[in-house]
Amino acid sequence: MKPPAQPRSVNKGRHLASWPRALGFEPLSDSPAVGLRLRFIHDRLLAAFGRRNWWPGQSPFEVMVGAVLTQNTAWRNVEKAIGNLRGHDLLTPEAMAATADADLAELIRPSGYFNVKARRLKALVGLTLEKGRGGERPELLDLPLESLREALLAVSGVGPETADSILLYAANQPSFVVDAYTRRVLARHGLAMGDEPYGAIRDWFMGHLPPDVPLYNEYHALIVAVGHLKCGPKRPDCPSCPLNDDPLLDEALRPKAGLGPAPSVDGPAPPLAMPPGIDPAGSQVSRVRTPKAKRQTPNHGIKITATKVNRPNGEGDIDGDTATRPTVTQSRRPK
Ligand code: SF4
Repeated sequence: MKPPAQPRSVNKGRHLASWPRALGFEPLSDSPAVGLRLRFIHDRLLAAFGRRNWWPGQSPFEVMVGAVLTQNTAWRNVEKAIGNLRGHDLLTPEAMAATADADLAELIRPSGYFNVKARRLKALVGLTLEKGRGGERPELLDLPLESLREALLAVSGVGPETADSILLYAANQPSFVVDAYTRRVLARHGLAMGDEPYGAIRDWFMGHLPPDVPLYNEYHALIVAVGHLKCGPKRPDCPSCPLNDDPLLDEALRPKAGLGPAPSVDGPAPPLAMPPGIDPAGSQVSRVRTPKAKRQTPNHGIKITATKVNRPNGEGDIDGDTATRPTVTQSRRPK
């Protein structure tokens, strides 16, 4: 078994969720209203960004390969590497297993850390062939969720984020994916501290949402969309973000988002921060009306600047997961 994932530091030096906590809201709350709030966030993001049609990949095995290659690099680099593999007919476990490590590394060079990733792909291919037939949809993916997750986590270089990406997007199994974008958005909206262990955040999502593959698929992709297009680490674009009228938005971001002062800590604290129009007790959901001044069309045409990507040689230290998921180059998603 791999050791548990190390918690990542998000928003170093700041405890964004401390303000909601002062109001009586707990990070990763167990309140039954959390499910409604998570649905609200999902619906808002879906309305703003539309369906993301994840994961880009022509076969489940290609998705598995992409999940490894996207570690610590931008998706456009992964596309080049996968294009090279496709051009050499290597997108099956059998073909990849028969390829020399050095040749494989050369083909995936555009994805960075190519020697490390070649070894990881070979390890993943080894597991795949050990568990049955390979092909474009390996038999491995038919294992029950927990067995498959455990097997994936035992592969060198496959961390929980990569394993859950394979489970959800290649195996179509309901395993929620948590990444740095997830942590940042949760922290800025008072739902988590942001540096909780991976498993705590995953369990929290899965405890408050039904085990619904299309829902998990879309939810994670939408979080990546808002994280990539709006919720940058230093300068979040709250004014044009579909989540900008959340009453629990981080206090420091409220003026930028055009929100008034934070609710008074002296007043009665609701059991959980909810968006306007949602009863915290979950008894009724009324129509949410955005104030006119903020009822603006999200900036779908936002200019996406290139992500700075290190171009390391083939070796180096990378963790088993990535903070640069398949990014939101809206035109590049598969149909
Ligand atoms: S950009 Fe602002 S409103 Fe949007 S998710 Fe980030 S913190 Fe929230």
